[in-house]
Amino acid sequence: MNNLPKADLPLPAPRSSQPEVLAEEIIERLTYRIGKDAQVAKPHDWLTATILVIRDRIIDKWMASTKQVYKTNAKRVYYLSLEFLIGRLMRDAINNLGLMSEIRDALTSLGVEFDVIAGLEPDAALGNGGLGRLAACFMESMATVDIPAYGYGIRYMHGLFRQQMADGWQVELPETWLAHGNPWEFERRESSYEIGFGGAVETVGGYDDTPRYVWKPAERVIAMAYDTPVVGWRAKRVNTLRLWTAQPIDPILLDAFNAGDHIGALRESNKAEALARVLYPADATPAGQELRLRQEFFFCSASLQDILRRHLQQYEDFTSLPDKVSIQLNDTHPAVSIAELMRLLIDVHNLDFEQAWDITWRTFSYTNHTLLPEALESWPVPLFERLLPRHMQIVYAINAKILVDARKSKMMNDAEIRSISLIDENGDRRVRMGNLAFTGSHSINGVSALHTELMKETVFADLHKLYPTRINNKTNGITPRRWLMQCNPGLTGLLRETIGDAFMDDAEALKALDAYADNADFRAKFAAIKRANKQVLSNLVAQRMGIRLDPSAMFDIQIKRIHEYKRQLLNIIEAVALYDQIRSRPELDWVPRVKLFAGKAAPSYHNAKLIIKLANDVARVINNDPAVRGLLKVVFIPNYNVSLAEIMVPAADLSEQISTAGMEASGTGNMKFALNGALTIGTLDGANVEMRDHVGADNIVIFGMTADEVARVRSETPNPRATIENSRELSQALAAIASGVFSPDDRNRFAGLVDGIYTHDWFMVAADFDSYTRAQREVDAIWSEPERWYSKTIRNTARMGWFSSDRSIRQYAKEIWRAG
Ligand SMILES: *Cc1c(COP(=O)(O)O)cnc(C)c1O
Repeated sequence: MNNLPKADLPLPAPRSSQPEVLAEEIIERLTYRIGKDAQVAKPHDWLTATILVIRDRIIDKWMASTKQVYKTNAKRVYYLSLEFLIGRLMRDAINNLGLMSEIRDALTSLGVEFDVIAGLEPDAALGNGGLGRLAACFMESMATVDIPAYGYGIRYMHGLFRQQMADGWQVELPETWLAHGNPWEFERRESSYEIGFGGAVETVGGYDDTPRYVWKPAERVIAMAYDTPVVGWRAKRVNTLRLWTAQPIDPILLDAFNAGDHIGALRESNKAEALARVLYPADATPAGQELRLRQEFFFCSASLQDILRRHLQQYEDFTSLPDKVSIQLNDTHPAVSIAELMRLLIDVHNLDFEQAWDITWRTFSYTNHTLLPEALESWPVPLFERLLPRHMQIVYAINAKILVDARKSKMMNDAEIRSISLIDENGDRRVRMGNLAFTGSHSINGVSALHTELMKETVFADLHKLYPTRINNKTNGITPRRWLMQCNPGLTGLLRETIGDAFMDDAEALKALDAYADNADFRAKFAAIKRANKQVLSNLVAQRMGIRLDPSAMFDIQIKRIHEYKRQLLNIIEAVALYDQIRSRPELDWVPRVKLFAGKAAPSYHNAKLIIKLANDVARVINNDPAVRGLLKVVFIPNYNVSLAEIMVPAADLSEQISTAGMEASGTGNMKFALNGALTIGTLDGANVEMRDHVGADNIVIFGMTADEVARVRSETPNPRATIENSRELSQALAAIASGVFSPDDRNRFAGLVDGIYTHDWFMVAADFDSYTRAQREVDAIWSEPERWYSKTIRNTARMGWFSSDRSIRQYAKEIWRAG
């Protein structure tokens, strides 16, 4: 049977986008799909009905996009990621279809307020932070720049935890984003695959030189697909995000059930479903759990089987795989795919090892996201071997090949050869996923220029020596649809009025705004929009937290995962020092500031959770002290997620991007703020370096040590105590925190945190403190001259177009995938 789509079947006629027609369709979906009368429909029902109407319009384009790939034999790109931090989809889809005002009008005619139902859509939080958000921005950009692409990941039942505060401490609650169902997705029962774990490898036909291997897994589960369409800008193309869920092969063990073991009968079911239950709640800590490795293999095996099936449906065999398929690994989480593709090609499709290897490394490419040694994935050999015995053999075989190549090259000494091995032999033997990803890929990219250079010098120095053409840079980007047009309609309107619509199709056309940076009339309008966005955020803070903010104060914002290297602690200590100064010299002209924080800490990350508590303790004391009223406020907004970012980013005057240099691979939060007209205070880290090049050194406030300086200080014997004692401001602030001024109920609470700065200061908080406070006073000086301030922030918006993820994706397509 021929499975190819029948090209001659016509697609349905395009649907009308008149509000009256849309309104009729919404009523139709409400009645027949949800089974509710308009009189009794709840806001959630209206939301679902509206999404179903939008979805139908997307489906028409979706089918056309799919057919086109079959017709043109175009290359397909597969983006494998354990995380997709999507957020809400409705506004995105409507905006990209160009139906915003029509849908609003349709709902209004039905007595429904668009913003109210839009606010009910749950955030799809299937990711921890930047890495997952990048995957989401890339999905949207791949559709926008017309690359035939599929995202593959896991449909976690519970995404990232919901963060609540209990007396200033982070409490983690399960996120139930699927509670009201998910009208965006399609269940694809026909796209199901068996995934094995454990068992043994049998050798058959071992008489000649090439015995065959058959993996007999002890456990098997079913991976079943759910598809979500992803619409590009102006709906040029619709791609697919395919997320896997796990099901037992036998939902119930009937023998056990009939024998009266009712709990035991469901054991298999629970075990299988555990695979897709939770997102692993950490982004830079070792995930030593077996479940995590099972999740990785589960989604990789399902995705690879799906990719090979689709390829064979259209092409003769796998020799064309590298020409017709590119598989991008978003970090090492999907790196086991390399061994799985080898297994499928050799054991199932009968290729020999050399052929399979040639196809494999030409098909894969890998994005590295971190140099932090504790975040480089590796698995204990005994665990890997027990769970994936055949893959262990394949890893050994690849390793043997690589090590022979390395010896033959005569370029490497024994230490270098040990460092490129796929097996870490120091202490307990472990499988190094970074080395597997590197050797099994033709392209390894960093996510900013600085990070790429550091990759060549540190983690991959020896592999880079052996394969000098593989490492390349692809600086991250953000989609300007979500991070400008949707989150900041006020600014978008002003931009269209001022420079026309070209920037909506090409973010670099924002450059035209440069000419308005010194135009007083434009500056006033730009400032008014910022002020309105700050009012929106103030309303949210008043409503959620009962704290009143003055929108004329400087909104100084740091939102991101809470991590010591991101240095929220530096910012909090500066707040304490500033508080002290305002109190001791109230007669000076202080710039009124609101320091806002948001972010989640990994549940097992003790110091990060303590930093959240410190922010809340400091906030309580400062916000209740009449001596600084109107001059300084500190607010920690709970439950940071994409939707909260969409409100906070447009409201920021100052963007805090203050990581220890050399530790932030790129950052994308930094890009969102600058694009929306915030001034950045930041270190020369990650993409901040390139942001400075684009916006101009006059339009960003840089402070602190460089990555080279950090590396040098760490290699010598740093003396943080002397640094601290040299700075009166810093020693006073640290003394206040350590002695319990902000924690009278537990005076020792923060002693350990402060002690870390005194004894090793690994993150250079003390070392960078004076430079940081000086930079903050420079920020104050600029703020005090509004013309200067807005000229700079306007230039930021004007010059950030290059950081569109459309640019990143075009570079991936041209230089890595050779697609599109
Ligand atoms: C952009 C974004 C991030 C990444 O922020 P960084 O400042 O680059 O760490 C994390 N979480 C959410 C919800 C985001 O929108």
